[in-house]
Amino acid sequence: MVNKPYCRQLLDTGKVTVCGITDTSITDHEDDGTPIFPPSYSFRLIGEVKQVAPEVIIEKAKTNEALKTAAQDIVKYPAMAEGNFVIHKAKVEIFDVDFDKINRDHKLLRTRSAFGGMKYNEAGPRITDSCIECGKCKKICSFDAIIEGSPYKVDSSRCDDCGSCIIECPVNAIEESLVF
Ligand code: SF4
Ligand code: SF4
Repeated sequence: MVNKPYCRQLLDTGKVTVCGITDTSITDHEDDGTPIFPPSYSFRLIGEVKQVAPEVIIEKAKTNEALKTAAQDIVKYPAMAEGNFVIHKAKVEIFDVDFDKINRDHKLLRTRSAFGGMKYNEAGPRITDSCIECGKCKKICSFDAIIEGSPYKVDSSRCDDCGSCIIECPVNAIEESLVF
């Protein structure tokens, strides 16, 4: 709907950010009252949009059930014919969280991806060759995201980016994460 402030913002900037999270309500507790965090997902998307002509949506709705309501509304309401967008390039990050390890043996499964030519950095801090293999980072990491080795490594798919390992390292061998 072209009069909506968010629509005008999309037209002005061409940029979009979307965040989402599943229900994380705490419904269960340990015997001592400690809350049990239910498994959940969250995601964020940073991307760019472009406007889609109403006739394109109507045409695509002939073979795509998901666009049927949109096509009907375009015919029904004049305001629905303008201000339709498609995200044509974006980077996405998904956090699959299981803090209490109900379904697996680690807390987090984190993935990043992109489409339309957008680039992203790998998640998590980076351990340099200054590592003296003391193991302090592995001990402090409650996400089981540190892999022993020479040097030690961060498993970015499990890392929460909490930063504890950076603080704990006695020789400053761990560099901060790059921006997404
Ligand atoms: S705390 Fe620092 S020096 Fe020790 S293993 Fe980890 S990265 Fe290497
Ligand atoms: S930033 Fe936190 S979660 Fe990631 S490796 Fe370091 S201690 Fe583990």
